[in-house]
Amino acid sequence: MYACPWCQRKSFSFWDKQWLGPARKAKCSACSRDVSVPWGKAHLAASPLLLGAIFGMVVWGPMLGEGKVGILFGGIFGAVFGMLLTAPIYHLYVPLVKPPVDDDDEISFSGRG
Ligand SMILES: [Zn+2]
Repeated sequence: MYACPWCQRKSFSFWDKQWLGPARKAKCSACSRDVSVPWGKAHLAASPLLLGAIFGMVVWGPMLGEGKVGILFGGIFGAVFGMLLTAPIYHLYVPLVKPPVDDDDEISFSGRG
């Protein structure tokens, strides 16, 4: 379980975070505020998955089938193998963060306490 960056309660499961990308937000079940993951670290963590997919398409694709079918299966297998690396990197290296403040988000420091 992962702690919420807002309320510190462990309200996010392993899979909550795996599915959470920097373009997506998840809502904390304890304080119902949004959390996200940082762009740079999330992309670094995802790179084995992307590289695996490319590797699979190029190297395994021709072994798995003719033309597009082989490329498709190669890409899927490559992505699955890449995921084996991406998942632990994501788990250990990518923190849950408060999402960047959009202009429509009102964060006020006047009402603390
Ligand atoms: Zn929370």
